[in-house]
Amino acid sequence: MNEPKFDPPKGPVEPVKLGLDDSIQFQCRKGIACFNQCCQNIDIMLTPYDILRLKNRLGLSSEEFIEKYTVPFEMDGHGMPGLKLKTREDSPACQFVTDEGCSVYEDRPAACRYYALGLMSMRKKDSPADEDSYFMVKEDHCLGHNEPRTLTVREYRQEQGVDIYDELNQEWRQIVLKKRSAGPTVGQPSERSFQLFFLASYNLDAFRRFVESDAFQQAYDVAPDLMKTLMDDEVELLKFGLRFLKQMLFDEKFIAEKPDALEKRLKSKREREARFKELEAGRQGT
Ligand code: SF4
Ligand code: SF4
Repeated sequence: MNEPKFDPPKGPVEPVKLGLDDSIQFQCRKGIACFNQCCQNIDIMLTPYDILRLKNRLGLSSEEFIEKYTVPFEMDGHGMPGLKLKTREDSPACQFVTDEGCSVYEDRPAACRYYALGLMSMRKKDSPADEDSYFMVKEDHCLGHNEPRTLTVREYRQEQGVDIYDELNQEWRQIVLKKRSAGPTVGQPSERSFQLFFLASYNLDAFRRFVESDAFQQAYDVAPDLMKTLMDDEVELLKFGLRFLKQMLFDEKFIAEKPDALEKRLKSKREREARFKELEAGRQGT
């Protein structure tokens, strides 16, 4: 089987593939001459778990966080919605940077945790799992590379607390890649599929309301215990949302559908259409 080619993104990247037990020389610390430089000119794509952590940190609903702290962008050329961290109105600096450092440090996004390490996930042909490799990003302004500290990639990841982020974002990244690669081959993806992607990925509070709704419960068979867990535990709700997305986008079955759900949906659609026609006829008759 061919090894996938190590092809890190372009830019100030050291073209050396690193594994978990390889050593790096790097330290970011308060008081370093470049302190906060990396937060002055940001371009940070947010993942679902980034948003969950940040909105809770700030005591906001998903909708409020999205409105106040993000800007939309297209993740591909087909309209797949992404969100980036909004910068200040008068500069490209992050809204959370202060003279003391990051004001949301414990809940900072995965991209901030990783820097100046880069992550690349590749999957060998016919392999069920991604293989992660790492590389260093060396930008002129970042003096952390000159600090006399060496540690392994594994130790750096542990120090930065990225494990939980990777665990929760990995399935999402796979959905993004699969949807992106399916786009051109199966024609223009539907607007509805992008709406569902946005809902389950970013707007967890609205997704909770959707799962709680009569319409959802009439269509899907979710055991009461699981339903309670989903209502109480946002991480479980996020994981469930990603499974729901795979079911809706790629027809992978994870959530049992009620046997007569499709029939009920069609019946209610027919009734709605009939009501609409009656109203139209009444309006034209007056
Ligand atoms: S979230 Fe924190 S670490 Fe990330 S760019 Fe903003 S201030 Fe810097
Ligand atoms: S050492 Fe690098 S990561 Fe740390 S504050 Fe300076 S520029 Fe940012």
